[in-house]
Amino acid sequence: MLTSHAEVLSPRSLQEALTAKASHPETVALAGGTDLMVLIEANKLAPSRVLNLWGVQELRGIDAQDGWIRLGALTTWTELIHSTLLADHAPALVEAAQTCGAAQIRNRGTLGGNLANASPAGDSLPPLLALDGVVELGSARRGLRRVPIERFFLGYRKTALERDELITAIYLPARVDGDETFFRKVGTRRAQSISKLSFCGRVRRQGGQVTLARLAFGALGPVPLRAHTVEVALEGGPVRPQLAELLLNDIRPIADVRSTAEYRQRAAVNVLRGWLESLAG
Ligand SMILES: Cc1cc2nc3c(=O)[nH]c(=O)nc-3n(C[C@H](O)[C@H](O)[C@H](O)COP(=O)(O)OP(=O)(O)OC[C@H]3O[C@@H](n4cnc5c(N)ncnc54)[C@H](O)[C@@H]3O)c2cc1C
Repeated sequence: MLTSHAEVLSPRSLQEALTAKASHPETVALAGGTDLMVLIEANKLAPSRVLNLWGVQELRGIDAQDGWIRLGALTTWTELIHSTLLADHAPALVEAAQTCGAAQIRNRGTLGGNLANASPAGDSLPPLLALDGVVELGSARRGLRRVPIERFFLGYRKTALERDELITAIYLPARVDGDETFFRKVGTRRAQSISKLSFCGRVRRQGGQVTLARLAFGALGPVPLRAHTVEVALEGGPVRPQLAELLLNDIRPIADVRSTAEYRQRAAVNVLRGWLESLAG
């Protein structure tokens, strides 16, 4: 429940929403509420103004546009799962959505909320990184700007969002022939658990040679990260599973209540090697 003194605004257009955010930057955006309401219920947050985005149609929809797939910020996990466009262009993101929460969470939880919440364990983050996603941010004063997902996460729960901005959409490049992707979430259970680590990989092969590699991990550190050393080693040759060991140059896993650093390190190498073996095999 929101505190009785919170003022709730429910804009009907994006312009109205951005104007409300710009005039009172302390206003807290509310999308599905699956992260926010947990904080409010636990008395960790008591916003005085809440911007309920749920009725803003411009923040909805999954469409193909000029070689990109546009996903409105209010796209729910359930909508990701049922999108035929994403089944073709971003199957790894669909798989990630399938592992997320339970049906109630998937029906309310949104992609924009997952990004703005910026938990390093957010399940959409590795697929969006591996797919070279771009986040679109809107402000009433400066209009729209686009930030590559790799530059969106600045530190633990810190993002490139300015105080007067909202996430309006996420853009993914259309799939290119030869791209193969893989998603894996390691948790206590396959669903309804927070990731100990999550991984999304993408390789593009032409004539047996890797021409592009993207390897993205979540829940290993304060921000989701790309394994650049392994990516560079993979590109320009056939898939060599032993390159997975190079991952130790890219990651310094954290220890927390969910897992030890050693477990995360071993599991990350094993998940990557397993996928590379299946590609090579
Ligand atoms: C039981 C349970 C299970 C869960 N399981 C998973 C899981 O398996 N994997 C996973 O990744 N997450 C999980 N979550 C977390 C949560 O469901 C997701 O992070 C979800 O995607 C958040 O989206 P939302 O729309 O509900 O965000 P909200 O709670 O509405 O907002 C979250 C944050 O984002 C901000 N925000 C929202 N939309 C915008 C916007 N358009 N622009 C700017 N800021 C915005 C809000 O101000 C707030 O700070 C779980 C949560 C619960 C309660």
